[in-house]
Amino acid sequence: MSASESVRRAIAAADSHSAHNYHPLPIVIASAEGAWMTDIEGRRYLDMLAGYSALNFGHGNRRLIDAAKAQLDRVTLTSRAFHHDRFAAFCTELAELCGMETVLPMNTGAEAVETAVKTARKWGYQVKRVPENMAKIVVAAGNFHGRTTTVISFSTDPEARADYGPYTPGFEIVPYGDLTAMDAAITENTVAVLIEPIQGEAGVLVPPPGYLAGVRALTEERNVLFIADEIQSGLGRTGRTFACEHEGVVPDVYLLGKALGGGVVPVSAVVSSQEVLGVFRPGEHGSTFGGNPLACAVALEVIAMLRTGEYQRRAADLGDHLHRELGLLTGTGAVEAVRGRGLWAGVDIAPARGTGRQISERLLDRGVLVKDTHGSTIRIAPPLVISKEDLDWGLAQLRAVLTD
Ligand code: PLP
Repeated sequence: MSASESVRRAIAAADSHSAHNYHPLPIVIASAEGAWMTDIEGRRYLDMLAGYSALNFGHGNRRLIDAAKAQLDRVTLTSRAFHHDRFAAFCTELAELCGMETVLPMNTGAEAVETAVKTARKWGYQVKRVPENMAKIVVAAGNFHGRTTTVISFSTDPEARADYGPYTPGFEIVPYGDLTAMDAAITENTVAVLIEPIQGEAGVLVPPPGYLAGVRALTEERNVLFIADEIQSGLGRTGRTFACEHEGVVPDVYLLGKALGGGVVPVSAVVSSQEVLGVFRPGEHGSTFGGNPLACAVALEVIAMLRTGEYQRRAADLGDHLHRELGLLTGTGAVEAVRGRGLWAGVDIAPARGTGRQISERLLDRGVLVKDTHGSTIRIAPPLVISKEDLDWGLAQLRAVLTD
């Protein structure tokens, strides 16, 4: 992989004063619009990652940028010490979009997950009457819910966990997609089941048909909260507003993030019923930036865009096309498996063709940006605003890289 001298210099400068907790592809972005990014030398690249779905509405989306600019000129931060005039609309409209009652805003996805863990425990002690400090939460192997100490305590990825102990107790890990194991893991002290409706970081793993409906039935039967982490899968990516909808399932709690901030500001939220989120009293949980006016203004525009259904339809239609085309690649022997839903795919590369990283670098050379995961998988998740022509061009580059 050959980066030009100025790109190499820019990367070296970044490397010299930053912690090396990432291994980015050798590209330095200077600007972006829609589904395209431009590097510091003016080369254009098709973004087929979309900030892990944070950029569902594309780079520099006019509606979102205008909403942010208008809010920047009014008020950006009040802290929750005071009310502000965008907060009520944000909570009301997000609750409505989710078909739920109550919203607790945070900033990052990991914070929403942490908030959900605290919510479930408090609900367990106050409503379900689990004995003090005995609450358990059932999670799935292969999960990715963020990077905080508690969240990595129930990760099964050694890279995410190593040398961060002691770990937070109170979690039971069961195989993803296995309802029998989940049933066996639930006890009278279980307060919640926390799962991704589709496991993104694991390689866009879609659970077996009936799994989400089964989790819903089990949790209802056993008086356990069903927490759906839709931080990556939600807000249009799979062709529906929520991935849970594919099985007609409504969980007790939605966790949202990424696209909720429109790729402009970090916005996350826990959305549930009054019974569940009503467990919090003033001072028991919070965030300086959570629910700030700028975040609310951008998220309100995101919600308005989702309400039209246009982005979900695009993701469904273009997603059908994407999966048809990727399906053809499995016939070539270059690809071992393709998974996903909507405009979201995990592609397992045949080892003879190179690692996921090598394929990502070869795609970079051809002007396409994707990201590898778990060695041999690449993830494809372009902004939902991508045109069919651009998607086809990106797929042609992938075909060329895999079959040349
Ligand atoms: N949950 C899921 C399903 C995710 O995919 C991610 C991030 O990739 C997170 C939580 C964590 O979000 P953040 O990186 O904003 O903390």
